[in-house]
Amino acid sequence: MDDKARIDELQEANNKLEKELEVFRIKAQEKTPDGSYKPGDVFEKVAEMLPEMIYEADLSGNIIYGNQRGLDFFGYSKHDLARGINISELFPDSYQEMISNLKALTHPGQTSSNEYLAKKKDGTAVPILTHSFASFIEDKIVGYRGVVTDLSKQKEYETQIKREKAFLEHLYNYTPAAIAITSSSGIISMVNREFTTLFGFTVEESINKNINDLVVPDDLKEEAVLIDRLAAINNKEVRQTVRKDKYGNKIHVSLIATSIVINNENVAHLCIYRDITSERKNLLLQEILYNISSAALKQYDIKEIYPIIVHELNKIWDTNNFFIALYDKASETLSLPFFADEKDNFYEIPTKKTITGWVINNNKSVLLKENDLKILEESGDIDLVGTPCKVWMGVPLKVENNIIGVMCLQDYNDENKFLQDDLYVLDFIANQIAIALQRRMMLDNLITARQKAEEAAQSKQLFMSTMSHEIRTPLNEVIGITNLLLQGNPREDQMDFIKTLKFSGNHLLTLVNDVLDYNKMESGKLVFEQTQFNLSDFLEEILRSYSFRSKAKHLSFEIKKGSDIPNEVIGDPIRLNQILSNLLSNALKFTNKGGITVTVKELNRSNNQSKMEFSVSDTGIGIIKDKHFLIFESFTQASPDTTRHFGGTGLGLAICKKLIELQGGSITVESEPDKGSTFRFILTFGISVKGSQVQKTEVTENFSGLEGKKVLVAEDNKINFFVANKFLSGWGIIVTQAENGQIALNELEKKEFDLILMDLHMPVMDGLEATRIIRKSENQKIRDIPIVALTAAIMSENHDKIDDLNINDYVLKPFKPHDLFDRIKKHIR
Ligand code: ADP
Repeated sequence: MDDKARIDELQEANNKLEKELEVFRIKAQEKTPDGSYKPGDVFEKVAEMLPEMIYEADLSGNIIYGNQRGLDFFGYSKHDLARGINISELFPDSYQEMISNLKALTHPGQTSSNEYLAKKKDGTAVPILTHSFASFIEDKIVGYRGVVTDLSKQKEYETQIKREKAFLEHLYNYTPAAIAITSSSGIISMVNREFTTLFGFTVEESINKNINDLVVPDDLKEEAVLIDRLAAINNKEVRQTVRKDKYGNKIHVSLIATSIVINNENVAHLCIYRDITSERKNLLLQEILYNISSAALKQYDIKEIYPIIVHELNKIWDTNNFFIALYDKASETLSLPFFADEKDNFYEIPTKKTITGWVINNNKSVLLKENDLKILEESGDIDLVGTPCKVWMGVPLKVENNIIGVMCLQDYNDENKFLQDDLYVLDFIANQIAIALQRRMMLDNLITARQKAEEAAQSKQLFMSTMSHEIRTPLNEVIGITNLLLQGNPREDQMDFIKTLKFSGNHLLTLVNDVLDYNKMESGKLVFEQTQFNLSDFLEEILRSYSFRSKAKHLSFEIKKGSDIPNEVIGDPIRLNQILSNLLSNALKFTNKGGITVTVKELNRSNNQSKMEFSVSDTGIGIIKDKHFLIFESFTQASPDTTRHFGGTGLGLAICKKLIELQGGSITVESEPDKGSTFRFILTFGISVKGSQVQKTEVTENFSGLEGKKVLVAEDNKINFFVANKFLSGWGIIVTQAENGQIALNELEKKEFDLILMDLHMPVMDGLEATRIIRKSENQKIRDIPIVALTAAIMSENHDKIDDLNINDYVLKPFKPHDLFDRIKKHIR
């Protein structure tokens, strides 16, 4: 309540008091028998009843009355009052002021209201407010009366409020956020210092303006209205938005709009703005760097990274005029994998004298304006090429201490397009880009190196395959001729030579085939057959050939078959033979006394599959434990002198292991030096439900029955033909030669034949193509002619084609005379 209201109230109370006094006077007159009245009595009675402090003083300033409330407050008693208290005692500093104030009261109804500092009896000072008026008797002033109010509480509040206000103002002005207080309709009543700094308006320019007119950009007016409405409904609305300053510059702000509600009434709005431009820029920078780095790491071609860099940088700067130059230190040239320019176009430039070169040589980031460029040119440091620009900003791309290039932005119109701050940012980004580019380049180098290594490996394999192939052809001829010589009843002394020749030839052929096989397995080109064969016959064959060789070394040889092993199985007999032959050759090689045992047993059978274990045991030199693992590696042997003593290449077991594992099996060894070795392998075969398909080939003892038959031999190799011809003619066959597939076709048209022996590899037209044409012939005689292919050993990739071709059979080169005879006999018309 302000003083004026208080005065009015007291005035009112005073009037009331006067009226009541009047009533009392009248009543007292009525009550008093002698008709006299004591005004003081009445006044005091009323004063004691009032909740205020009341006093009465005479004209000389002596307090002649104080109600109990008043006495208690000042610490005096009735006794003190009787003794007499002068106002000078109560107002030691201001009693004269008080007296003059009282003296100024000259008319009834006049009131004097004053604040004083009074002194209690105990000496403490208290602020008080007095409302005094003069009391009259018959128009003469007889004294003063008044009401005293204790102001100490009020003063305390006032001080507190003042402090709080100062505190608030401080907070308001020094808070780093811009604050504006507006009416609920948006009229600004207060702005803080930060508001003036952020938006550029002075306090005077802001007050009484509508906040939305002042700082909201035109395109965001609607949003601003919405924010006000939401703030009014929810009391608070937080947003990231854009505001503009006095000069129209856009500022990204985080805005908190709140409404101030008093007694359920929305009385004002408080808007708090925080400038988030740099925060946003940092976030943007992070995003840009992340995108560039991840682009560099992804399997992009390095050329694809540059447009990504430009796209990302475009989020901060106008990149219409932007280039990346990569620096080749050796040739001192700059290549420009990315160059975007409104005016010029370059792809490669010498480093010398360009601004880019200058940046590289000085290893320095620069922001150069037109004038700076001129000075540099005049000093001879640079030669300006291309269209002169207004501002040139370039930073070196550095990885550790090496400069790998330069990144540059320029502008042809506005020299203030880029600021120093932009240079820092570009510098920072450039570092990251340089790392990303470097990483990408390293990755690319690695990829190229890997490709080269793969190509080298491939060409090695190709070389090995070709070489083995090339060696095999003459070798087949050697072995063929040797077979012929053996057939020709050589002399006793020649026999030893020929046998040695045959042994060496075969040995060499095994080696070549091993290398070829190994290469094929390495390159994953090996295909396994799934044919039905008779396991017992197969093992018989093994027994036959190895008992003979064992006998020669005075070793025993036996095969133990489990009684339950299946007879007809499905699998690859050639590979099984290869595995067992390898193991048996080793056993023979490394055993000098005792013997060799092959054991075959079935481990389990289910779903027409038989899992079998084959083992080859010998009583030979054995292998030390350390080497058990190693001997399965390619080109390794148990001891360094093995080759010297026993020969071999160290490929056999590696091939066995691969052949077994590729068919889903496994191989292990158990061996101790001088106690012999056991190699065990497990393979699963299909079990045929049908009976035997393959007729057992009779082992032909005499070569009769083919006399007079006409056989066309399609073979380009003279020696191979010579060998084949020798055998066929020997068996009474009438032989016609065709040097290639085409000639064979011609011959077929001319004459009738009972069978064709077809080499698959021939010039002009190979055996595969010739067979295909024959099988499509309209002439039934030609179409149905039996064809036996002559194919190099273990040419499994051709087997598929052979199956497709519908040939009747094939004989592996170098052919065994028996084999050739049997196949011809079986199929000939
Ligand atoms: P190679 O026999 O051509 O040297 P292998 O891969 O077949 O190559 O064998 C590797 C090595 O394992 C042999 O050199 C030999 O030291 C050892 N080895 C293989 N089989 C036997 C065996 N039955 N008895 C003793 N040592 C063997």
